[in-house]
Amino acid sequence: MRIVRFCKDRKAPPIWGWLAADRVGVLDGSPFDEFRREEAVLSLESVQTFSPVIPGKIVCVGRNYPAHAAEHGADVPVLPLLFLKPPSAVIGPGQAILLPPQSHHVEHEAELAVVISQKAHWVRPEDTADYILGFTVANDVTARDLQKRDGQWTRGKGFDTFCPLGPWIETEFDPADALITCNVNGQMRQMGSTRDMVFTVPHLVAFISSVMTLEPGDVILTGTPAGVGPLVDGDEVTVDIEGLGSLSNPVRAGMRGG
Ligand code: ZN
Repeated sequence: MRIVRFCKDRKAPPIWGWLAADRVGVLDGSPFDEFRREEAVLSLESVQTFSPVIPGKIVCVGRNYPAHAAEHGADVPVLPLLFLKPPSAVIGPGQAILLPPQSHHVEHEAELAVVISQKAHWVRPEDTADYILGFTVANDVTARDLQKRDGQWTRGKGFDTFCPLGPWIETEFDPADALITCNVNGQMRQMGSTRDMVFTVPHLVAFISSVMTLEPGDVILTGTPAGVGPLVDGDEVTVDIEGLGSLSNPVRAGMRGG
């Protein structure tokens, strides 16, 4: 099943929905609890969609693909290298990534995202499937100059709009071997397969749950393949994951609001 958050009209708050091909139906209840699927009668094009989840926390994994670690001259870590992005960074499909004035070098990072279904604490790798609602597409947008200058990553990874997620949560997706690509203005920048991950999805969920309790709706970004590169004002960046979906966002200079 594909799960979305959408608005039937502009004045209404987002609600849960599910997709049948290009039709949307209301998902009455919550995908983290009990729900009932109403008939899918609305066309996907006629509704506004949002990030398919509002995470309480976003746990990210650095250098989880050897070729990406190598392009930054870094070794592959012995244990998963964790960092956090704030929920205020989340935007949905089609929403603009805003380039902050403090940075002169913002880059895309195409990533597979895991959506947690229930509270997870010290889960074993072989049991993690029970704690995963599904998967979505992410872009771990990074101010590379600030990341390097600060020596830790909170500022470089944490700006508003630096975590596009979507377009939906796919509950049937198999993360073992899927092609991940990133295009900027139609030009291929990144290509890799999830099979090249140093630490697999079950290993990551188990490892993170031994550090912090994962809650329903929490999101894990699983690292990026090689080929990260700059984004500039006017770009359109698209992350595709085979069998999952395609997430596109325009890039604009400036700050949110105002
Ligand atoms: Zn990343």
